[in-house]
Amino acid sequence: MIVLSEGADKRLAGHSEIRALNDLLEARKAAGLPINDEIIQNVYIYNVDLTATRKNNCIITKPRCENCTVLTDGANTILNK
Ligand SMILES: [Zn+2]
Repeated sequence: MIVLSEGADKRLAGHSEIRALNDLLEARKAAGLPINDEIIQNVYIYNVDLTATRKNNCIITKPRCENCTVLTDGANTILNK
């Protein structure tokens, strides 16, 4: 389980990819499935910028921040062109 530091961004959507990855790993653990380095290769991150999406009335994807990029290294990302 990921424990946020005191200075961490605690907004619901802040670093959502890490929260989702944590949920995935916890679900695999609960199901008795293995957790290993190969899992990340099968992870697809589709991160939506909710503020931009509301303003533009269409789905706008958002690249990972520097921290999430390092922590989810090896995952596949899906971005709008
Ligand atoms: Zn992040």
